[in-house]
Amino acid sequence: MDIRQLLVFAVFFLKIGAPLEAQTVVSAAREWRQAHQSEILQEFTTLLSIPNIANDGVNIRRNADALVAMLEKRGVESRLLTLPGVNPVVFGEIKTPDARHTIVFYAHYDGQPVTPAEWDGNAPFTPVLRKVNGEDRIFARSASDDKAAIMAQLAALDALHAAKIPLRSNVRFVWEGEEEAGSPHLESVLNANRDLIHGDVWLVCDGPVDQSGQQTVVFGARGDTHLEITVFGAIRGLHSGHYGNWAPNPAMMLVQLLSGMKDKDGTVLIPHFYDDIVPLSPLEKQAIAEAPVNDDALRQELALGHVDGGGKKLLDLLNLPTLNINGIAAANTGSRANNVIPSRAVADLDLRLVVGERWQVQQKRVIDYIQSQGYSVVDSEPTLEILRSNPRVAMVKRDDSSYEAVRTPMDLSIASEVIAAVESARGKVVKWPTMGGSVPLGAMERAANTHTLTVPIANYDNNQHSSNENIRLQNLWDGIETMAALMDMD
Ligand SMILES: [Zn+2]
Repeated sequence: MDIRQLLVFAVFFLKIGAPLEAQTVVSAAREWRQAHQSEILQEFTTLLSIPNIANDGVNIRRNADALVAMLEKRGVESRLLTLPGVNPVVFGEIKTPDARHTIVFYAHYDGQPVTPAEWDGNAPFTPVLRKVNGEDRIFARSASDDKAAIMAQLAALDALHAAKIPLRSNVRFVWEGEEEAGSPHLESVLNANRDLIHGDVWLVCDGPVDQSGQQTVVFGARGDTHLEITVFGAIRGLHSGHYGNWAPNPAMMLVQLLSGMKDKDGTVLIPHFYDDIVPLSPLEKQAIAEAPVNDDALRQELALGHVDGGGKKLLDLLNLPTLNINGIAAANTGSRANNVIPSRAVADLDLRLVVGERWQVQQKRVIDYIQSQGYSVVDSEPTLEILRSNPRVAMVKRDDSSYEAVRTPMDLSIASEVIAAVESARGKVVKWPTMGGSVPLGAMERAANTHTLTVPIANYDNNQHSSNENIRLQNLWDGIETMAALMDMD
């Protein structure tokens, strides 16, 4: 072999060297998982059995303590980060000599509130294994959102340890306990522990992968804010016959007010609603163009005869702000319906924000619109005097635990490294500039002084936030391999 052949050989060897190594990690994770499925499921379902609604302090604490024990069992230095009256953040840290990177894995251990009667089996905290389309899924609150991510991270650690594969990065875990309550204290807790939570990148392990099932890496998330609007009729419900045509009906007033906010295609008509949007970069547009288009399949599955958006596809529409009615209430329906003119009507509005928009400004635009429709707007229960002296009164309560959208630039070098690690486990990934749902990425970025990338593992049809939440087991298994690849990232 002459020197040129040797060089060619060396280059070839180096080239295949790196992926082979990543492949070793992924297959080690797979083999370990295949040999330990029942133990993983045992530990996972035990965690899912602890109720985890953010306002249930006692059980939240049980979750946090259980998670610390799960970390310590694996030799991970861990503790609770908290402030008075705040659900603790579970923190764990593995220091690696000569580490090139410090990677922070974020997940949350609290879940959305539950209505047990709406769940098959009426027991959201009793995990059940059921088949869907011939495949195993575990049903329980937070099975996918977001305890699966935590379980995948822990199992990945086990697999790497068992295969004696040393970590190449410092690894930190930050598991929040009030994400589903809007993360009201995350930034303060992080700010109080800035030295602990810094990293080259925060990997946010939350949310669903693309509807095609392909692994997804998400570069941002929409922001979120809420408004509760109440409009008033008479101070008590009135007989709909004796007073009909005379007493104003607040349910009718409210739906008229709301219907003026959007056109038939779902475009928001509130002035300036779309003014501040920062347009997508060419790379972000290209990522959307390359992503699978699942719109028709979703329409079939969801039995939608039409969709909003004037012909734009779902992934494009996720990069626009929304105005959604989360719920409307006025008097009763069904067997409890009365012939009554209700006294008040209430609607909850959810506004998702994109990069460039400020939540206070977006709230104010809605309030300005309500005023432009002849309403006097108050922010607390109106007095009788106010009701008597103003033709129309709307009480608007603003949610202060709101936050703005974030998009991490797609050309960062750490982003390429994360993508390479994920692709070593899952093949070509789908890149989304923005996740439709909201995660407080801004708080993380400010406190940790870093960028975030979201690496979800859950199946898209996981009933996140709803009854019968579930995780497809294969997604959990794949997630373990993905997390192992990220922990061993070069
Ligand atoms: Zn979540």
